[in-house]
Amino acid sequence: MKISFAPPYIDQAVINEVMDTLTSGWITTGPKVAALEQQMKQLTASDAAICVNSWTSGAILMLKWFGVKAGDEVIIPAYTYCATALSVLHCGATPVIVDVDDECCISATAVAKAITPKTKAIIAVDIAGWPCDYEQLKTIINTPETKKLFVPESPKQQLLGRILLISDAAHSIGATINELPAAKYSDVSIFSFHAVKNVTTAEGGCICINLPANFNAADEYKYLKLYTLNGQTKDAFTKSNGGGWKYDILFMGLKINMPDICAAIGLGQLKNYDAQLLPMRKRVAAIYCDSFKAMDWFIEPALKNEQRESSYHLFALRIKGITEAQRDQIIDMIMAEGIMANVHFTPLPMLTLFKDLGYEISQYSSAYALYANEISLPIYPQLTDEQIDFIITTVINSVNAVLEVCKEPAKVEL
Ligand SMILES: *Cc1c(COP(=O)(O)O)cnc(C)c1O
Repeated sequence: MKISFAPPYIDQAVINEVMDTLTSGWITTGPKVAALEQQMKQLTASDAAICVNSWTSGAILMLKWFGVKAGDEVIIPAYTYCATALSVLHCGATPVIVDVDDECCISATAVAKAITPKTKAIIAVDIAGWPCDYEQLKTIINTPETKKLFVPESPKQQLLGRILLISDAAHSIGATINELPAAKYSDVSIFSFHAVKNVTTAEGGCICINLPANFNAADEYKYLKLYTLNGQTKDAFTKSNGGGWKYDILFMGLKINMPDICAAIGLGQLKNYDAQLLPMRKRVAAIYCDSFKAMDWFIEPALKNEQRESSYHLFALRIKGITEAQRDQIIDMIMAEGIMANVHFTPLPMLTLFKDLGYEISQYSSAYALYANEISLPIYPQLTDEQIDFIITTVINSVNAVLEVCKEPAKVEL
């Protein structure tokens, strides 16, 4: 049975939205982006939402917005996708990579130790959709000693007066803390609409801001929109609709706006997300947990506790006591049956770029341990019961087969 890993969810609602854009006479940034921003603002209960062409460019934008530059430090976890670190490097700053806790979230203790007078921001990553403990991170950032260390060097840094807390929410659209959208708990949450994410626009991202009250959300929205469009005072849609031809370029902006043709895909998906698509993901996760529970090798992923609930973006299966080589062997067996599995993620210090920059995996024992026994299984609304059953049976057989081999007593050579 062939089962893909994360196919996009394209139904009639999506097709209708895209067709509407194609026949409207306007395909780049315009009414669909505005509508998607409105929906994202509502869904995340944020003060403003700005759509961009990827998570990566959104993160670069927000670091630049805050004035992060060469010589500055941004604290990030070792267990994430490379983009978290690349956004920092693209601003000329240094990613200070710290280890994670046993739920894969950036370690609060490690963060507290890593803060220096050069620290401008922390990017916490909601791996698999599991929101980090933002209240704990905020407490660290707001201690008088930490605030005293902070050296404000840009207007936004002066206004905030402390380290900026960014959430890498690439996985966590729909995740909650205390039954509120998780985005409410950090200053800036950046979502990814890449094709494999819970909600997609093919490529895209969305910045949701929840800054303290001394920031004016409407002004920040206007400024950030300019920033996504070369710093140009009038966008093409406004000009083409009788807004006049004259414009000005106010500052050196980026060109990272989202086109309407992409926003249309996201709009079609968001319509059914809370009521349908998210519960369907949750259902798959529940069936996996129920079926693997009986296996003594099963480590249950963090999906829900008293405060937090995941967005069920990944099902990170972890197997007690196996080595990296055994994990790879199990994946080979699963893949041979036609099931596409993945590993999320190879810790940054294991990748060439970061090794070349001097990071060493030996310093990140928790990230390595969480990586070595992890297998991400398919989890998405389109999975049928038959496919889910097949995945479960194949996984159980493959894990048992690999574990059986190591249980066999070593043969004594005579
Ligand atoms: C996908 C992903 C990103 C990057 O998203 P893009 O939209 O492709 O730039 C960043 N962080 C994490 C954790 C991701 O999984």
